[in-house]
Formats: sequence, structure tokens, C-alpha cells
Amino acid sequence: MRVLVALGGNAMTSADGRARPEDQIAAAGVAMAAVADLLQREVEVVVTHGNGPQVGNLLVKNEIAAAVVPPVPLDWCGAQTQATLGFVLMDALEAELARRSVDRRTATVVTRTLVASDDAGFTRPTKPIGRYLPADEAALLVEHGETWEDRGEKGWRRVVASPEPLRIVDAPAVQALVGAGFVVIANGGGGIPVVADEDGTLRGVEAVIDKDLGAALLARSVDADVLVIGTDVPHAVLHYGTPEARDVGVVTAAEMRAYAAEGHFASGSMGPKVDAACRFVEAGGARAVITDLAHLSDAVTGTSGTVVVPN
Ligand code: ADP
Ligand code: MG
Repeated sequence: MRVLVALGGNAMTSADGRARPEDQIAAAGVAMAAVADLLQREVEVVVTHGNGPQVGNLLVKNEIAAAVVPPVPLDWCGAQTQATLGFVLMDALEAELARRSVDRRTATVVTRTLVASDDAGFTRPTKPIGRYLPADEAALLVEHGETWEDRGEKGWRRVVASPEPLRIVDAPAVQALVGAGFVVIANGGGGIPVVADEDGTLRGVEAVIDKDLGAALLARSVDADVLVIGTDVPHAVLHYGTPEARDVGVVTAAEMRAYAAEGHFASGSMGPKVDAACRFVEAGGARAVITDLAHLSDAVTGTSGTVVVPN
């Protein structure tokens, strides 16, 4: 069995959101212990991960250091976080595997994901990223071509395109490494967004791809049987945060789509996870599970979490 495990950006920081290197290393250890449990059961695993907090930190460095060191574009930030988190995850996973006497090698693939240059997101950016700034500081960045939105009391926040992932450009490299027995970490942050010029040349673009939608596409591209979306809640919940709250257990993609249409899942958080789970099974995947790290290894056999199955 082959499983694609998608870890939330928050699975890579401490519970209170701190992202010092030691916080990220500790969080990676917890997440990789769950992945190692899976590997111990002879399951093939490909890991992908979010990078929101890490990219947020790089953007702050860009802003503060702009007068001294040239700021780098958002696609570079994506590439940097794929490499750094890949390295942290490989160290953590290999330590957990050694502890279990499981003999497997790990590899990280810096992964590009193709998006359309005419994606609606490029004309109407919607994805908020980075920190809040006061109006005058945001105005300066708007002059440099960035889009910032007034978010009321908290201040202004940058918004960027979140284009639809069309193809995982480096999926063949992931496939080859999986075939050779490696546990592969790939497509972090949903992939580095690239567009194709008329002659086919790829070029990075200032955008962020939704990690969960990227994960669904990667899962199909590497022929995964199961997509597990690991986050900080054990289930997707109907009437979330109300007295009528009810966990979603095993559902068909059509039932889940109907719940989504009723507005049960917040657009910036649970919404894309539900969409990704549905897309994966609608495209031929056997099962998609949304759950927390504690239930990750159980999720693969279908005993816990929110399990989306074909109609
Ligand atoms: P990650 O960082 O792991 O990708 P997010 O923070 O984006 O995860 O999404 C998980 C969060 O979604 C949960 O912590 C929860 O607060 C929120 N959420 C919103 N709507 C729901 C819902 N209907 N059911 C469960 N969680 C929900
Ligand atoms: Mg979160």
C-alpha cells in the first residue's frame, strides 16, 4: 500500500505557534514518529508538508533587510522552505526509523508545480500571507507592486495569488525514488509555483499553492492508494464550534461535497482539506482521511478520522 501523508504547516511549529529552529525540530520529531509507525507496517509513504509559518518568517526578513540584502521572490521562499523543512524532516524521520530498527533511506525533492499564467488568482489575489502591518508601511509595499488589504483592527495584510495546481512537474523524480525504496518528502507548501512560457520554458511566479490541493494532485501523480491529511483536529466537524457539532466519520465524496456546499468547512482552513480529500477519491484514489497526528497511523487502516470514500 502507498500512502501520501500531508502535514499541516502547524505540525511543523509548536502548539503555541512558535517557530524557533528548536520548536520546528521538536514538532518534526512528533510528526515523523507517526510516519515511522506507518513505515514499520510495511506501508510505502510519501510526505508533503505546509510552509505557511516558515514563509511568513522569511517575508519578515525580506522586509526588514530590504535596504541591505535584495529581497527574494515568493517562489524562492517556497524553494528555501522545501529544502530546510525537508532536511529537518529527514533527520527526524531517520532518527525515528533507527529507533525502530527500520532500515529505510529518505530523500527530499525540491518540487515545482505547474499553474496557468492566466489563473484568475493573478488578477484577483485572495490568499493572505505574512504579518500584519500598519497602513503607512503597507502603502510603501503597494508602491513596489504588492497587493495589500485593509484587515481592520489588526492592520493591513499582503494578499497573493493561490492558483490551481495543474501538474506536479517533478512527480517523475518522486516516483523513481519511491520505486528505489526511498521515503520521499516532496511538494512542500503545495509546490513551487511555475508557469510555462510559449516555448515550454518554466518560470517561477509570485504565488502560493494550497498545500492540500497540491497534496491531492501529488497523491494521484504517484499512484497513492490513500491520502492522509494530518492536521490539528481528529475530524472534520459539522456545525463546527456550535453545540450541534458532530464529527464526520466515513462519508462518500458526494456526501462530503454536499456538507461543504452547506458551508460547514471554513474556507481558509478545513475547506481546502475537504476539497482535496474529495478530489483525490473522485480522481480514482481509494480513500482520503482527515485526522490529527495521534491518529495518523490508524487512519491508514480506516479506523479513525474523517474518511472520504468513492461514491
Ligand atoms: P493545517 O495548518 O494543519 O493545514 P488549518 O489550521 O489550516 O490546518 O486547518 C485546521 C483547522 O481548521 C482546525 O484547527 C480548526 O480550527 C479549523 N476548522 C474550521 N472549520 C472546521 C470544521 N468544520 N471542522 C474541523 N475543523 C475546522
Ligand atoms: Mg492550523
